[in-house]
Amino acid sequence: MARVALVTGGSRGIGAAISVALKAAGYSVAANYAGNDEAAAAFTKETGIPTYKWSVADYEACKEGIAKVEADLGPVDVLVNNAGITRDAMFHKMTPAQWKEVIDTNLSGVFNMTHPVWSGMRDRKFGRVINISSVNGQKGQAGQANYSAAKAGDIGITRALAQEGARAGITVNAICPGYIGTDMVKAIDEKVLAERIIPQIPVGRLGEPEEIARCVVFLASDNAGFITGSTISANGGQFFS
Ligand code: NDP
Repeated sequence: MARVALVTGGSRGIGAAISVALKAAGYSVAANYAGNDEAAAAFTKETGIPTYKWSVADYEACKEGIAKVEADLGPVDVLVNNAGITRDAMFHKMTPAQWKEVIDTNLSGVFNMTHPVWSGMRDRKFGRVINISSVNGQKGQAGQANYSAAKAGDIGITRALAQEGARAGITVNAICPGYIGTDMVKAIDEKVLAERIIPQIPVGRLGEPEEIARCVVFLASDNAGFITGSTISANGGQFFS
């Protein structure tokens, strides 16, 4: 039986590349998304990967959504916490709503999704949890106090759960992408990208979603069974940690 992988935010951007790569690697994949029905329908049509709509910011919705995925495909063996948003503003202009939305999605979302699958993984003595953090969680980024805090938190929960899951055969790792050419980054002003962001990246280009997806496939595999609590930086040399 194929292992079951659930990818949050799995119908667009980095998550879509992860879903496709896991399917190609032989997993039975479910892709969650938040609200873009059109993109999700197009993704399912193109890839054959089923999509499931709920917000990772809502714990009860996560429990219900995961139960549906498990009824359709079987117990979740691999969870990729990829869903994420930005609500950028300099701190003096950041609203409590901007702070809360990003923390609820990018940090609490990891709790909300991992908690409902954790006991099952423990019982079955196998699990892979892969959290998509960010270079901006490692180094901090002006204009992203909310995002940097949430993404740093994702590294913290990764390390704590790695210790809790180790004896139960569950590995928990984080990947910290640098700037990757998805809608999230295309939303940045072109001039800012060309003049301020690309010059910070030693390889001189944005990353491709597939370059993150390949890290996920490796961490999900049996070959990565001794790797837990780690953070893989995939950022074109922008930051070393
Ligand atoms: P995109 O904006 O391209 O896609 C985001 C995906 O997340 C979409 O599928 C979206 O669903 C989903 N999503 C957003 N909010 C929720 C929610 N509350 N519940 C469920 N799904 C949700 O983002 P990227 O592909 O660029 O980013 C993916 C991850 O990688 C994020 O965690 C991001 O922070 C991280 N990252 C990205 C970098 C980059 O340069 N792009 C760099 C470093 C980290 P829908 O389609 O319905 O809107």
